[in-house]
Amino acid sequence: MPSNLTDRTGVVFGVANKRSLAWSCAKSLDAQGMRLCLTFAGERLEAGVRKLAEELDNAIVLPCDVTQPEDIDAVFETIKEEFGHLDSVIHGTAFAKREELKGDFYHTSKEGYMLAHEVSAYSLTAIARRALPLMEGRQGSIVTLTYIGSERVVRNYNVMGIAKAALEASVRYLANDIGPMGHRVNAISAGPIRTLSASGVEGFTKILDHIAAHSPLRRNITGEEVGNTCLFLCSDMSKGITGSTIYVDSGYHIMGV
Ligand code: NAP
Repeated sequence: MPSNLTDRTGVVFGVANKRSLAWSCAKSLDAQGMRLCLTFAGERLEAGVRKLAEELDNAIVLPCDVTQPEDIDAVFETIKEEFGHLDSVIHGTAFAKREELKGDFYHTSKEGYMLAHEVSAYSLTAIARRALPLMEGRQGSIVTLTYIGSERVVRNYNVMGIAKAALEASVRYLANDIGPMGHRVNAISAGPIRTLSASGVEGFTKILDHIAAHSPLRRNITGEEVGNTCLFLCSDMSKGITGSTIYVDSGYHIMGV
């Protein structure tokens, strides 16, 4: 893909390990020369994420629990000092309690509902607000990750589907806010991929089998395909696209019976 990003910088939230979709995005952006900051959620992940970052060219690694406003502030303060400006934000954080990713949705607790929304939906807005001053004059691009469980009932996805619906609506409202500043924001609706978070959804293997059997491409997608779509959305090749949900799902979203 002809997209030289050597003068660009980006921050990637939500790298847990090499299977993370955020990591796939980081690799695609790094390959085209973007200088990156990776964030990780807790001490448990730090060593692994620092090791992964060694595969990138000159990336920095910072802690960030997106439920802690001071953590998000600290990330952008460091980016200001280290990079001076920012072109891209990749939002790949999501969380729901494991016990709420099975059974009936109506059992969702208020606390679980709030937590899923805080980490998986509100964090995009909290991050975008802090990124804007650093993106001034840069025609910035923000990319988040969503799933078709926002618009269709996917068994066991439950509260995360509601949070993804809020996330996708946030993309549209943010797009209208930041468009006049020259910035864009889009969501990638990825097909299922076995990651740490995905394994928390009960019956996940059945979902993978279903896509392989019933999607137009008759196969599951790869992390690289998500990463390369992220690259497209962060490059000038997608300059006219904002507020959109782009499906990287082997075409599954078009299917009826
Ligand atoms: P993942 O590797 O587990 O990534 C999710 C990340 O969110 C992890 O790094 C996780 O850290 C982090 N996170 C959770 N709570 C956080 C908090 N309070 N502050 C900061 N980070 C926090 O799984 P993934 O599948 O790549 O997920 C990335 C995104 O893709 C998510 O939005 C997910 O919903 C979306 N997506 C995934 C699929 C799929 O099938 N895998 C499909 C469509 C969309 P911890 O490990 O510490 O919790």
